[in-house]
Amino acid sequence: MSDSNETSDSAEFRKSLEDIAFNFRSNVDIKDRKYRLKTYKQCFVGSEGVDYLLETGHAQTREDAVMLGRSLAHEFHLFEHVTRDHEFADDYKFYRFVDASERGTLTMDEKIGKYVRWSDFLAPVASGEALQPAFAAKSENLELIESKDQHVIGQVWPLDKYNTQLLDNVHPPSWQDPKAHNEKDGTYSYDMVVVGGGTGGLITAAGSAGVGARVAMIEEHMLGGDCLNVGCVPSKALIHSANLAHTLRGDMEHLADAGISLDPSAVKVDFEKAMERVRRIRAGISHHDSAERYSKELGVQIFLGRGKFTSERTVEVNGKTLTFKRAVIATGGYPNLLPIEGLKSLHDKATAIDSGEPRPIVMTNETIFNLTKRPQNMLVIGAGVIGMELAQAMQRLGSKVKVMGRSGRVLPKEDADLAQVVKDQMIKDGVEFRLDVSEYLRIEMTGEVLDNGYPEMKLAVMEKGNDEVVEFKFDALLLAAGRRPNVTGMDLEAAKVDYDVKKGLLVSDKLQTTNPRIFGVGDCCSEFKFTHAADFMARAVIRNALFLGKEKMSNLLIPYATFTSPEIASVGLYESDLKKKGMEFRVFEKHFKDNDRAICDGKTAGMVRFRVDAKSDRILGASIVGEGAGNMISEVTLAMQSDTGMTALAAVIHPYPTTAEAVRQSGDLYSKTRLTTTVKSLLRGIISLQR
Ligand SMILES: Cc1cc2nc3c(=O)[nH]c(=O)nc-3n(C[C@H](O)[C@H](O)[C@H](O)COP(=O)(O)OP(=O)(O)OC[C@H]3O[C@@H](n4cnc5c(N)ncnc54)[C@H](O)[C@@H]3O)c2cc1C
Repeated sequence: MSDSNETSDSAEFRKSLEDIAFNFRSNVDIKDRKYRLKTYKQCFVGSEGVDYLLETGHAQTREDAVMLGRSLAHEFHLFEHVTRDHEFADDYKFYRFVDASERGTLTMDEKIGKYVRWSDFLAPVASGEALQPAFAAKSENLELIESKDQHVIGQVWPLDKYNTQLLDNVHPPSWQDPKAHNEKDGTYSYDMVVVGGGTGGLITAAGSAGVGARVAMIEEHMLGGDCLNVGCVPSKALIHSANLAHTLRGDMEHLADAGISLDPSAVKVDFEKAMERVRRIRAGISHHDSAERYSKELGVQIFLGRGKFTSERTVEVNGKTLTFKRAVIATGGYPNLLPIEGLKSLHDKATAIDSGEPRPIVMTNETIFNLTKRPQNMLVIGAGVIGMELAQAMQRLGSKVKVMGRSGRVLPKEDADLAQVVKDQMIKDGVEFRLDVSEYLRIEMTGEVLDNGYPEMKLAVMEKGNDEVVEFKFDALLLAAGRRPNVTGMDLEAAKVDYDVKKGLLVSDKLQTTNPRIFGVGDCCSEFKFTHAADFMARAVIRNALFLGKEKMSNLLIPYATFTSPEIASVGLYESDLKKKGMEFRVFEKHFKDNDRAICDGKTAGMVRFRVDAKSDRILGASIVGEGAGNMISEVTLAMQSDTGMTALAAVIHPYPTTAEAVRQSGDLYSKTRLTTTVKSLLRGIISLQR
């Protein structure tokens, strides 16, 4: 058959499908139906749809009718199950017709001879249930001592040319609200309103506008959110300077071993310059998230102000009411202040920019990147990801750092022995750990002012196994004791969106809140508080909110990395998760002390650890600690996401010598376990036959 015949046949087939679709909708019995005390509005019953297709002769058997019904549902997105949990079936299940406005206009793509809609251009986010670890919200103390309404947002400081450039991009001082859609009555109406302009909000807004929706984004502080302004970007820029300083000054043993001699006193850390570099780098990339780019290039209307819900379909900002068909809340989180006597007042004093006297340096991640002078003795409360990364960086830049915690260990999410590798290196760097605090009693200023101009403070604590109060003096305090979701101060009650002040928005697996029009994205509703998690949640939500998609949070396989030196990264389930789930598994490890590249580089601390199903080669989880772990974990994530097992990994050729070879070598370790005595003697037999 020629191509042109095929095209005309398929066009005819499509035409007849279109006719059936049209008649189907007009002839099945659509009405409100009840099931288990719940009423489903205007729907039809699956088996009645099958009856209709048989009676009209469109299908010869009930099986054919089901196939035909599914084609109508998939090809035209004509109808769907009322809770989107089932395919079309010959059953007492309810289906509702989908309005054109909900699914996007269908357009014939002549090239492929198929009807397409907006959602077809969005890459699917993920499929199949992912192996996600149970992330208990680990925090020093989750007592709520302030809510978002009282929280003083850290200001950007100093106002040099870099921070001015940053603000011009992410919070332009003279920004004007967009004009009302209906200038007569001053009303605004949108397909999508996004509250919060961090990673989650930015991706949601850009993606929604990109597929044709009318979108507004509301940001009360700085576009780019935590990641750009007070999170990933400045912390990684700071870590870069710290690691350079460490290689040149702190790691003399390593340099000497490599045949390089350097007078330690010749290496000077100019802390002011290092911080200026942080500000320059942040400002330099801030145009990606700028108000100008989002409004002019991406077609998103930007409002700079706090968003507050006024009803289930409206949100207010700067005195204007925006009506939405769908809304996404992506309001992120903020650092947890501990209920230590004296802390809140010192923190608020430290955050007030205009005070003339020497101010106490009590910081969170919102203010640490404002530092210009190096603290001498810095106390870090919290031994999680943020505390550990910044403690090591500040120590390597010349402060004397002490890390305090209550859990007896560092990086509580990670396997204890792997986290210990990081802690050992930090001890070598000079960081001191006090991880057995039983109670933080009070914090106050001593009245002394140090050479760097910072006033001295002291913290009194009780430690486990010691009846006496212990006091520590310091000139800077970093609070890295957990984070809280931003869910207060925006009148979620008016929108009928339920939340928990500790866990955040209560969302379904499809990220829908208790108001079906409103979805949640990112740190405000997830235990996976990472930029890449917020990014992929946003992608899922665009499909779910605008195209009746079925993307599920539980399908996202989310890796994570801590950028200490050495780095530590994990994906999938930990040993503790596997034990809790009663899953049998085996562990395969390849240590970097046996990896040629790591030996050549003199960086032999760490290992690759795989957790593998006991009865197959399926990877259930993996952790890597060592240089470059954050990059290496992606190969394992790809393997897990594509169901590539240990056998296939063993067959992937890796360039020699690389640390990534440890991944393949772990595959080899697995393959060796398959060489049982019986298999070995069988192989010996085959070889002997060849003589
Ligand atoms: C020091 C530090 C280092 C980090 N490093 C990494 C890293 O290396 N890799 C990584 O993956 N993750 C890292 N993270 C985590 C990452 O920054 C967050 O997971 C990510 O920013 C979450 O994005 P989000 O959109 O959910 O929230 P956010 O980025 O917090 O954005 C929320 C936005 O909503 C705004 N907002 C809140 N309420 C309202 C309201 N009512 N009206 C209007 N606007 C509102 C806020 O001002 C904010 O801009 C780090 C975090 C910190 C603190």
